[in-house]
Amino acid sequence: MNRWTKLVHQTSDVVDAYAANSTPIYQTATFAQATLTNANRFDYSRSGNPTRSVLENQLANLESAQYAFTFNTGIAAINAVTQLLNQGDHIIFGNDIYGGTHRLLTQLVSARGIQTTQIDTTDIQAFKNAITPATKLVLIETPSNPLLLITDIQQLADLLHEKKIKLAVDNTLLSPWLQQPLQLGADIVIHSATKHLAGHSDLTAGVVAVNDGQIAEKIAFIQNATGCALAPFPAWLLLRGIKTLGLRLERQQATATIIADFLSSKSAIKQVYYPGLSNHPNYDLHQKQAQGPGTVISFTTGNIEKSQHIVAQTKLCKISVSFGSLVSLISLPYHMSHASIRHALQQLPEDLIRLSIGIKEPIDLCNDLDQCLSNTKTNLN
Ligand SMILES: *Cc1c(COP(=O)(O)O)cnc(C)c1O
Repeated sequence: MNRWTKLVHQTSDVVDAYAANSTPIYQTATFAQATLTNANRFDYSRSGNPTRSVLENQLANLESAQYAFTFNTGIAAINAVTQLLNQGDHIIFGNDIYGGTHRLLTQLVSARGIQTTQIDTTDIQAFKNAITPATKLVLIETPSNPLLLITDIQQLADLLHEKKIKLAVDNTLLSPWLQQPLQLGADIVIHSATKHLAGHSDLTAGVVAVNDGQIAEKIAFIQNATGCALAPFPAWLLLRGIKTLGLRLERQQATATIIADFLSSKSAIKQVYYPGLSNHPNYDLHQKQAQGPGTVISFTTGNIEKSQHIVAQTKLCKISVSFGSLVSLISLPYHMSHASIRHALQQLPEDLIRLSIGIKEPIDLCNDLDQCLSNTKTNLN
């Protein structure tokens, strides 16, 4: 099935008595059994809920996965994956990783006696050096955030599978619309559905998608045993958001491409980080493994005051953490989303501005950024 068709064509086997065209919100904790000894498919919403089931089926479809599971937040999804590890195991993850993931791995997962190693995931040799007999899991983001570094998923999967190590890809930045890591050899795909999948900044949710039945069984067990599954109402909101994933992302990405070109043409900008620019160091690799450059652009000005001024001056972008919303967002990761890990992330420039492009008119956004840049010159120089 074509991906546009998949977005609105539901294949779930959950039956609704009235054939509602919008999946009902089964806002219930419990379901009555048919008889004392015969439980129905659903009995308790922590273990399973029809609204969540339809959503999980839809997410599995989009990731070309056999199984998908949804959680309260993206971090809860990542935490569930780390529960696959036991004391003495070793996990490798990227330098340029989501701050909350770094906090979880270095403060809670490591406290369970699991070794953690942080490396530059774009360098295959760094993996070869970091892997030990205890290594069980590698967790990467590609493109990474906020530096938009690209890791070769297929090459890494091949290396890890030789050594029986599982590869998990946090695919939040692109969503399944633009990249499907399971198809490239990854074992586990994770999302913060709070971002593109929801798209409207109106819920938090997380996803784990896999093909391997044994991993699926364990994740299902962890989801139930730790009680972190997504509730019916946000599950319904997420189902609604997903229907327009393609429309939103195609529009946002086309605008992001215009903005990246615009910023590249400005002498006040030092460097633009965007995998859609042909001068990106891994432009070809990204083209090979993804269906588009995405909606997040980072850039530097060479001067922290200048960058702070631009962020403060914009009229059309909200100063906000996160990305993937219909509304354009601007942030200084060094001081905001990545403040807690900036010491670990030596490559993160203090003057780096991250833009998350929404659906506003590209010309309006360019004009807005232009007025920020020209005001910067008069005010600061
Ligand atoms: C936001 C984000 C997360 C965490 O997701 P929450 O829904 O905020 O818990 C994890 N990974 C990446 C790449 C993110 O951007």
